[in-house]
Amino acid sequence: MTTTEQNTFSVLPLTTGFLANLESSGYINMTAIQAQSLPLVLDGRDLLAQAKTGSGKTAAFAIGILHKLQSTSYTTQALVLCPTRELADQVSKEIRRLARAIPNTNILTLCGGKPIGPQLASLRRNPHIIVGTPGRILKHLEKGSLTPDALNTLVLDEADRMLDMGFYDDIMRIINFIPDKRQTLLFSATYPDAIKNISDSIQNDPVDIRVESLHQDNRIKQVFYEVAKSDRTEALIALLKHYQPASSVIFCNRKQQCQDLAETLQQNGIAAIALHGDLEQKERDRVLVQFINKSSTILIATDVAARGLDIKDLQAVINFELSQDADIHIHRIGRTGRAGQEGLALSLFMSSEARKLIAIEEYQKSPVRIDDVAGLSLAEDSNGNLIPKMVTLCINAGRKNKVGAGDILGALTRESELTGKQVGKIDIFDVVSYVAVEKPIARRALKILSDGKIKGRKFRVRIL
Ligand code: ADP
Ligand code: MG
Repeated sequence: MTTTEQNTFSVLPLTTGFLANLESSGYINMTAIQAQSLPLVLDGRDLLAQAKTGSGKTAAFAIGILHKLQSTSYTTQALVLCPTRELADQVSKEIRRLARAIPNTNILTLCGGKPIGPQLASLRRNPHIIVGTPGRILKHLEKGSLTPDALNTLVLDEADRMLDMGFYDDIMRIINFIPDKRQTLLFSATYPDAIKNISDSIQNDPVDIRVESLHQDNRIKQVFYEVAKSDRTEALIALLKHYQPASSVIFCNRKQQCQDLAETLQQNGIAAIALHGDLEQKERDRVLVQFINKSSTILIATDVAARGLDIKDLQAVINFELSQDADIHIHRIGRTGRAGQEGLALSLFMSSEARKLIAIEEYQKSPVRIDDVAGLSLAEDSNGNLIPKMVTLCINAGRKNKVGAGDILGALTRESELTGKQVGKIDIFDVVSYVAVEKPIARRALKILSDGKIKGRKFRVRIL
């Protein structure tokens, strides 16, 4: 994350309470996009902002919304549109954290795939801020359950992805419901023409802010390898065995390719899981949980599936196939090398794709380095870092069963057979939970959970 000394949040006209809360969350210096956009956002301007994933865009609009919020007026004042439930949840969580300094702020998440009844009940309390996916929000506007009269801020987060997912019509219909006199903030990781067009039709004299990333720093070691199409898989395996990244995302252009590649790698003894647009939300959650809790070191994804995900500690990004456009390439590889660590970006390309390499060089304003796969040394014995350290247990109980992370950790460590250190990340969903445990103790942990009780009840548990 790029920050500089002078960019502390304290230069902004925010209350001391708000600043103290920011600081307690570890927010001291603004990121580049925050430093450029927040003064304008606080000034009430419309904004068209582009910056890569992980650059801190959420706080850039959330602080703006919270700054002008009239928390004593029980009306819905801000609406944030996100492409997926997952992203809406992430954004709500961040807004809630930032809102801790303001008493009684009511934030509601409204997404599809959830029952409408509880949403109607929550809407009757006129939440101050609503975060959700376009389809469901439109439905509530059409039903009259969401009162838009007092809305003064509209945010389109991950606008490029919403357009990719076909939300254009829904967004335009939502606009028809909400007051013209409003601040409209549009955030996007890439900047295709469609974004400029939608901005023209819904924004009022927006300030255009773009934070380019790659050529400003050299935190990413980037190497290209030329291969024949038929040798791609073999080359990929050689890259994995040479670099042995403890966590990596491999990009493919099509979902079928993701699936096929995951299977091929598995046949070669390398565990990998695929994330693509065809997965149901439940499967998607499960795949991401397994990757983030370190039960899989390799995630294979399409651009659409991976965009917007806030994955930390990614050691490498590997392009099994080059993307069509240079800006997408830069966006892909920008996921590694965050938080001051040097990242690794490896790309396979075919001789017919020379033109794409030139486009990348022009975009990043520096030449690319091309190496030979044949020159890579391969680890003899094992796959080392590639082997996941953790295993995920899936428990058929979640939030709806009033099961929390503490209950699961308690059940595992109660008899002091296992220690807390052997237990990794715990993720709780509505009706299912996942707990990562160190591989050598997975069977024991399974037995403890299956034989014992969680919150006084027995639940079904299995190893994923
Ligand atoms: P984006 O929406 O641009 O992909 P996010 O808003 O999700 O990025 O932020 C990425 C991560 O950086 C989050 O974990 C967030 O909490 C953290 N973050 C954002 N701004 C700051 C800051 N100023 N200082 C420290 N951490 C920050
Ligand atoms: Mg974001």
